[in-house]
Order: sequence, then structure tokens, then C-alpha cells
Amino acid sequence: MSVFDHIEFDEHEHVAFCHDKETGLKAIIAVHNSYLGPALGGCRMWPYASSDEALNDVLRLSKGMTYKAAMANLHQGGGKAVIIGDPRVHKSPEMLRAMGRFVESLNGKYISAEDSGMSVCDLQLMAQESTYIAGTKASYHFAGEEADGNPSPSTAYGVFIGLRESVKYKFGTDLQGKKIAIQGLGHVGYRLAEHLHREGAELYVADIYPESLERAKTQLNATVVSPHEILQLDVDVVAPCAMGATINHQAIGQLKAQVIAGAANNQLATENLGELLRDKGILYAPDYVINAGGIIDIYHQQISSSNEALKAHLEKIGQTLNEIYMRADEQNLATNIVANSIAEEKFKK
Ligand code: NAD
Repeated sequence: MSVFDHIEFDEHEHVAFCHDKETGLKAIIAVHNSYLGPALGGCRMWPYASSDEALNDVLRLSKGMTYKAAMANLHQGGGKAVIIGDPRVHKSPEMLRAMGRFVESLNGKYISAEDSGMSVCDLQLMAQESTYIAGTKASYHFAGEEADGNPSPSTAYGVFIGLRESVKYKFGTDLQGKKIAIQGLGHVGYRLAEHLHREGAELYVADIYPESLERAKTQLNATVVSPHEILQLDVDVVAPCAMGATINHQAIGQLKAQVIAGAANNQLATENLGELLRDKGILYAPDYVINAGGIIDIYHQQISSSNEALKAHLEKIGQTLNEIYMRADEQNLATNIVANSIAEEKFKK
């Protein structure tokens, strides 16, 4: 299938197919929209079954980055790169340097960062060939701690701010005594749990691995439940912080929480579920708005910034969500639909 007829093609500005015979590199770089600035987005390495599957992913993900950057008020567009191959088998320093040269050849139209299958070391190899690689060093931390380049602390802080704002909007209260179920206690989920515990929330947690659950039980007084139960609990808020698409028809049917606010990407199995949530009176914090802390962090590490400026930017996530919620109520629309239209107002000429 050609790019222009592809189902995920959405007026993408630039799609580059990259092949390096010597290293076996096969990659695709997509710039969706650069109206607000150079397109920023991770480089993912994945054993795609076909080049069409890789094209599908890069077109969809680069578009998502445009919306995320616009809603985070970044001077940045949306882009993404995918390398076709198993990162544990096919990756080599020469291949990564070749990828760096392809990124460089776009002259800054696309800025690459970390994604699945890639590490900071891999980006450092790409950076040997290109100045357009982000996330290889870090100077700022929103709480003044040492910055190590991992954006998860910023993502978790942004989700915490967004969740607190969502609770205030829905219940008119703070987090004291609020029952919150966190699905997935990984890099973001655990840090979110720490913030919520400090604010007096009552935590329920689930993960498929036991280590972080034990820690949450002893250090955060959290109640551990099974992954099957976590979305059905009689709580005020659920925070999906594991995989995407966990909010499907069945989960919504069993949901007792009145707020969904978490870090996972692509939480809704399909976009139209936003309307079902609205009909049921469940407030949904659009995922790419509430989880933008990571990209905000990466952005600040590239510019001359400060810990305070990074923190203030992360805290704007609360204000942005409030605007979405108000507009959704005024227009009787789903919050994800409202978020999309606000983003489009920002980046569409
Ligand atoms: P992570 O891999 O560190 O954590 C995910 C956790 O979810 C793991 O502990 C995993 O065991 C658990 N998990 C997987 N399946 C589960 C299930 N069915 N039930 C319960 N737990 C399950 O990932 P992360 O960096 O914490 O990111 C979490 C989510 O947030 C992902 O969807 C990611 O794409 C998204 N996100 C992360 C960042 C970031 O800065 N890390 C930024 C934006 C979005």
C-alpha cells in the first residue's frame, strides 16, 4: 500500500524510508506536523512482521506526538522513527550510527528520543552522527534532585497534578481519603503512588510482578489486589499506568470509579468510548494530556531552562485539563474529543 493511501496517513509532511545495506538498517522516520516547531518523538526498535506494520505504527505514533506536544504548549511538532528488527538480536553500534546519519540528513526537521527497544546508550551512539538527538543528557529536575535523563519522574508528577485537578473538578475536594486504584506500579505508577500517599489518598495497587507491590504495601500502606480486580474496585479514581487499551467496553461496564486519570498511552480501546464514559458520568483525563510530563521534561533538557521552569510547565497540565473539562461540559462532548479539537486549533494552519 502506498503512503498516501494508507489508512493512518493524515497529511503527514514527510515520511522517509531509510536503508543501510552494510548494517542491515531498515527504518522509517515520519514527521506529522511541524507547524509549532521541529518534530520531536522517540525512536522505537521493534520486530515488526512487515514493513506495512512498521509504516502503520510510525504514521499513527507521529500523529499522536503532534497532539501531545501541542497540548503541552511546546514549540515542537510531532514525529517518530521506527527501526525494523529485534533490539536484542539485530541492534549494533554501527546500525545506530547509521540511524543517526539518517536523522541528521533531515537537518533538524525531526528530533529523535528514546522509545521501546532503545536505551540512552543507543541514543548516545546516534548522537555521534547527529546533533538532533534528545535525551542523552539531563540538567534539570522539577524537584531539584539529580537529573539522570529518565523522564518518568516528570511524567509521574504531571499525572499526579492532573489526577488532583480531575478529583477537584469531579468531587470539589482534595485527595485526602480518596480511594485510588493504580493499575501498574512501574516507573511512573510507583512514583505516582508516592505522591498520592503524601496527599493522604487510600491506595489500591496491582501489577503482574510482586516486587513493587510489596514495597507499596509496606511503605505506602497500599492494598494489593489482583490485576483482574483493579479496574472494578469501589474506588473514586482509577489510574491506568500499565499498557494501552485497558479501558474497553467490558471494563467500562464494570467500572465504579468516577474518574479515570493515569499515565498509560492510548488508554481507550477505541476513541468513541470517550462518549460512553461521558454518558456514564465518568470523567476521563485524556491520556496524551495528562501523561505529557515526559515530553515536557525532554523539551526542557534541550533548552536553557531551570528546575523551576520545568516544574511550572508540568503543573500547567492541571490547568489544561480544567479547560478541557469545562469546554466538554459546556458543549456536552467527550473530553478526548475536546482535547483533539483544542490541539488542532493550535497546530493546524
Ligand atoms: P513500566 O514498564 O515501568 O511500568 C508498567 C508496569 O505495568 C510494569 O510494572 C508492569 O509489570 C505492569 N503491568 C503490565 N501489565 C499489567 C497488567 N495487566 N496489570 C497490572 N500491571 C501490569 O512503564 P512506565 O514507564 O511506568 O509507563 C507506564 C505507562 O505510561 C505506559 O503505558 C507508558 O507508555 C506510559 N507513559 C510513560 C511515560 C514515561 O515517562 N515513562 C511517559 C508517557 C507515557
